[in-house]
Amino acid sequence: SLLDDEEGGVLFYSASPFSSSSSSGYGLASLEKQRQRLPVFKYRTAILYLVETHATTIIVGETGSGKTTQIPQFLKEAGWAEGGHVIACTQPRRLAVQSVASRVAEEMGVKLGEEVGYTIRFEDITNTDLTRIKFLTDGVLLREMMDDPLLSKYSVIMVDEAHERSLSTDILLGLLKKIQRRRPELRLIISSATIEAKSISAFFATSKRHQGPESEEDVPSTEPAILSVEGRGFNVEIFYVEDPVSDYLQATVSTVLSIHDQGSMGDILVFLTGQDDIDAAVRLLTEESQIGRKQGLMVLPLYSGLSRAEQDLVFSPTPRGKRKVVISTNIAETSLTLEGIVYVVDSGFSKQRFYNPISDIENLVVAPISKASARQRAGRAGRVRPGKCYRLYAEEYFLKEMSAQGILEIQRSNLVSSVIQLKALGIDNILGFDWPASPSPEAMIRALEILYSLGVLDNDAKLTSPDGFQVAEIPLDPMISKMILASNQFGCSEEVITIAAILSIQSIWISARGTEKELDEVKLRFAAAEGDHVTFLNVYKGFIRSNKSSKWCHKNFINYHAMKKALEVREQLRRIAQRLGIALKSCESDIQVVRKAVTAGFFANACRLEPYSHNGMYKTVRTSQEVYIHPSSVLFRVNPKWVIYNSLVSTDRQYMRNVMSIDPSWLREAAPHFYQHQRPNPIAH
Ligand code: ADP
Ligand code: MG
Repeated sequence: SLLDDEEGGVLFYSASPFSSSSSSGYGLASLEKQRQRLPVFKYRTAILYLVETHATTIIVGETGSGKTTQIPQFLKEAGWAEGGHVIACTQPRRLAVQSVASRVAEEMGVKLGEEVGYTIRFEDITNTDLTRIKFLTDGVLLREMMDDPLLSKYSVIMVDEAHERSLSTDILLGLLKKIQRRRPELRLIISSATIEAKSISAFFATSKRHQGPESEEDVPSTEPAILSVEGRGFNVEIFYVEDPVSDYLQATVSTVLSIHDQGSMGDILVFLTGQDDIDAAVRLLTEESQIGRKQGLMVLPLYSGLSRAEQDLVFSPTPRGKRKVVISTNIAETSLTLEGIVYVVDSGFSKQRFYNPISDIENLVVAPISKASARQRAGRAGRVRPGKCYRLYAEEYFLKEMSAQGILEIQRSNLVSSVIQLKALGIDNILGFDWPASPSPEAMIRALEILYSLGVLDNDAKLTSPDGFQVAEIPLDPMISKMILASNQFGCSEEVITIAAILSIQSIWISARGTEKELDEVKLRFAAAEGDHVTFLNVYKGFIRSNKSSKWCHKNFINYHAMKKALEVREQLRRIAQRLGIALKSCESDIQVVRKAVTAGFFANACRLEPYSHNGMYKTVRTSQEVYIHPSSVLFRVNPKWVIYNSLVSTDRQYMRNVMSIDPSWLREAAPHFYQHQRPNPIAH
């Protein structure tokens, strides 16, 4: 379509609309210059024209070209937020949402949470009357559809980072295509860092032509337009290791140090996989930087869960005479752009979700990245001048073994949460839903089975009332939501909500290499014989009794920020519970009812200790998988006969995290249908 091929349409842009801003100080003016230097700035008129004339516009542009931060502002300036409308921009990642929203607020010279705001799960920094540009995760936008199925307050929805094809992005695209048929005035922008966008374009192109009674005028073309923003990346020279590295953490550290030793300036961006290895690398490099010639290093982590101050450090200009080393998850691959990066160190791995519908086990595992990812990562080195990328894998491996594209998330995820959301939106025939890419039938069937066993779906695979609808309302894993609902009957909603809040935080303990022993000892102060869930209640009580003191946390190896966050989540869950008619009630010291409520949500994760096991081996009741209690659990080595777990992690074995002991008779109470017909009576002994 128009402007598809060359610069043709991009030359005629109108005069800069921001010449004189009376309130702007010196800082703003220079931000303005930065904005105008971004590649998308030249495409402003073209983008606005396409959005005006097409229902769907696909914009492909290299990372850092200004798609995320600029396009919503262009739309606002062109009037798309008038008449009370809001411009939405979705991101797969929470940290990216926070970061770009605060950047855009800064560029516009407004207070974050007013004209520009953001929403992520459990954190809503928007104002209903004032917010005109709203950044949000794709998951949150899906949730908003439960209250407003046509998303009627939005005039334009920009689905960003579409090349990532996150599970929620895919579901969102399917639903937006449906909404478009009902709302021809709605505009979609789908933006992507790679040409992968082609398949999305095909998906939208098959959209049926609008046949409503409205007049033909003003109806935009339903053919999607594609616009490619020419970036201006510099050349990046690629280096490979000669022999495969066995310890990528060690290899990372020595590569960074040798880049630093070579002397020439420029910041370094390192791709590792998650908080654990990032923290470890930061510690190793920080130790090095305190000795001798390594003093110029300023080592910073980047992963979700960082405090605002830590995030800001990453984006702040590198002090003179220093070299910034940012050690990141793949969030810096395309979601966030750091200025000044000249060197990239690529471990070749990232954390990825893999779900096996046969065993019903979902794991977050460290897995090799794809060639497409490797290219993106390398590209981050060429932003300000020619750069260098050091790959911690052999060229042979890159060429012959690395897969071209990763597996789509929808094909490697547990679909329980997605299915329940689609059901709640009235999509009854889930298998017939118009997916951008179809999920595996096994995963789909497994999800239906689990929801049926939880009593969320009935025999006709429709949401049950009220349970099914209530579970769908709570923005948590359905098993946790079910546990909260059950707490109402057991009169322990206060306790169960506390547990749910803490389970939604990654970890409340401070763990650092070398302090494991002390942490174990400290945990004993809180440890409950019933397991981790009850231990959380003890920690929570202690924290409240200490008057939410950070000193107390420090003394007890408890992460103060995590606890504060848990309190916030807890407050929100209490509000949701009240809305659903759950009475807020404490069971005081009757812990048994709490355990029964937890079992009502997690009965499907029951495990039994192998009768003659000497090494603490359990088998899951449902699928007879071998599993073990994770060393971080207070029940590690205690090995009660019957337990349920919250999640599994796999390293050398399958480990259960957050474990609670149960009485097996509760299983039948909680889910008679599940435990009577399934297997030849697993609870007989
Ligand atoms: P794209 O979405 O095309 O990858 P962005 O709009 O995210 O590009 O980035 C455009 C520019 O804005 C980049 O130069 C980037 O460095 C800058 N930027 C984005 N977010 C921040 C932030 N939080 N702090 C400082 N600069 C930022
Ligand atoms: Mg972006």
